[in-house]
Amino acid sequence: MIEKKINRPDWVPKDAGHEFTTFIMPAGVELGVQVSPHLEITKRKKLSVYEYVEGILNKDITILSKAITLIESNAPQYIEKAQEVLKKILSHTGKSIRIGISGPPGAGKSTSIEALGCYLCKQGLKIAVLTIDPSSTLTKGSILGDKTRMELLSREKNAYIRPSPSAGTLGGVARKTRETILVCEAAGYDVILIETVGVGQSEITVRSMVDFFLLILIPGSGDELQGIKKGVVEISDMIAINKADGKNIQYANITKTSYQQAIGMLNRATDGWNTIVRTFSALENKGILDIWTDINYFVDLTKRSGAFDKRRNEQVLYWVKSMIEEELMNRFYKDTEIEKMLPNINKDVLSGAITPTNAVSLLLNKYFG
Ligand code: GDP
Repeated sequence: MIEKKINRPDWVPKDAGHEFTTFIMPAGVELGVQVSPHLEITKRKKLSVYEYVEGILNKDITILSKAITLIESNAPQYIEKAQEVLKKILSHTGKSIRIGISGPPGAGKSTSIEALGCYLCKQGLKIAVLTIDPSSTLTKGSILGDKTRMELLSREKNAYIRPSPSAGTLGGVARKTRETILVCEAAGYDVILIETVGVGQSEITVRSMVDFFLLILIPGSGDELQGIKKGVVEISDMIAINKADGKNIQYANITKTSYQQAIGMLNRATDGWNTIVRTFSALENKGILDIWTDINYFVDLTKRSGAFDKRRNEQVLYWVKSMIEEELMNRFYKDTEIEKMLPNINKDVLSGAITPTNAVSLLLNKYFG
């Protein structure tokens, strides 16, 4: 067991309680980092709505992080406070480009985000990287979070990287991520990258909150679409085949051709935009600039055609609708009468005594009186 050493300032009264502890360190560990007094104050103090709003608009990273923590809280009083903060910053939101990035584990998402993010920071843009990790909502483990990720990007002062909110349903995580996008925009971030791993429902959730959706794949197995469902290809605005370097270049080009053929038979993700298929190498930094050029072209084109604003409006309304659905479901299943009735109803359905439609009517009639 690690022995704890409690360090206290000299002026602490003899019989002082734990409230006088300034910090606790494992024995043998020296405090190497000077913590700014301002940071300490911000850490300890409960901020008012006004302080959150001022801090976010003044681009204070510590307060931005605290605001996101507030958004991620499930306690009713914090949810209410977070909503007050959001209401006050709403007029400063919406100006970023929101980009979703997905792909199977190992496709090179973090390497690509790092390469693109560092490039954009060098252009003077501010980048926020958020993640939606479906594995962390189901188990304590996480596919995206376990690795040391994006070390170079995390050192850029214009980059802000925030891992996935760890607990809750996908719907809950979606609400938190959407609100995090808003505070990042109010804090002046120009590009918001939202990463998810391409193995389930989470891509659809990310698609519902971004302007542009980038699917990253690797060379090979073109026809079976690398375990990526047809539906995910159909929501993508660009399919980028990574690792087009060394011996892989030829395979990458073959994969590109098969995807180009495949998308000809699928629906488009965005009105007026033909899904682009590209090859690139995140590791060798080849093709990153082309991806960014395409994204800018996409934004320009869809803004002029009206598809950009139309999608954003639809997304806000979808957000309202999906929150109503989730709230109704929560209330329904937590209702004590329903909880009592449900096991017997389920039994009756399974024994054939009633039909599923009968079961639904009985339950809903009970709930709505
Ligand atoms: P993620 O799981 O999708 O985030 O993938 P990572 O970015 O962690 O990359 C998985 C592995 O692929 C790592 O070993 C990377 O170094 C490697 N990798 C990423 N991009 C490239 C690339 O462009 N070329 C090659 N050859 N390897 C790459």
